[in-house]
Amino acid sequence: MPKAVAGPEIERLIQLLARLPGLGPRSARRAALHLIKKREQLMTPLADALEIARQKIVVCSSCGNIDTQNPCTVCTDPRRDLSVIVVVADVADLWALERAGALNARYHVLGGTLSPLDGVGPQDLTIDALVSRAHGEDVKEVILALNATVDGQTTAHYITDLLQDAGVRVTRLAHGVPVGGELDYLDEGTLSAAIRQRTPI
Ligand code: ZN
Repeated sequence: MPKAVAGPEIERLIQLLARLPGLGPRSARRAALHLIKKREQLMTPLADALEIARQKIVVCSSCGNIDTQNPCTVCTDPRRDLSVIVVVADVADLWALERAGALNARYHVLGGTLSPLDGVGPQDLTIDALVSRAHGEDVKEVILALNATVDGQTTAHYITDLLQDAGVRVTRLAHGVPVGGELDYLDEGTLSAAIRQRTPI
């Protein structure tokens, strides 16, 4: 434990910042010092923004997205294609897909993936709600945008089985060569998946 270099209030700020993903103790110190130096321009607006967000954050009762309104901004967007539901494990995945801008659909956040080793079963995820949404008359396709891990793929298979009689097309993301990727650097699993899923040019 390094010696404290500042009063308990500043040490507490550093400790809290160090809990953020991607920030270790050293960068937390740097961030705290930066906030303190920029108290008016950065620290005060940040504190205000945190407080406002804390008060207003809600989970969308339809898709599980996090927003300041329920139903969320995505679910209430009239330009979205109602015939497609994109299934993701986590809100971070939803936001990543939105950043990519490749889809104009609505989402369903599962709240994780099935993981027998960690004791996560179907009842711990929003799978029942997904199945009932997939039976909606507008829905034609369910895209399983889940991680290419054992747990992600187990979850995808489990959901695919449950959606057998929902009358929807069930698809999943392609596995393969990343954009800008070099073949020589890819692992064998990725390369063989890319070959199996090759597409005509
Ligand atoms: Zn929503």
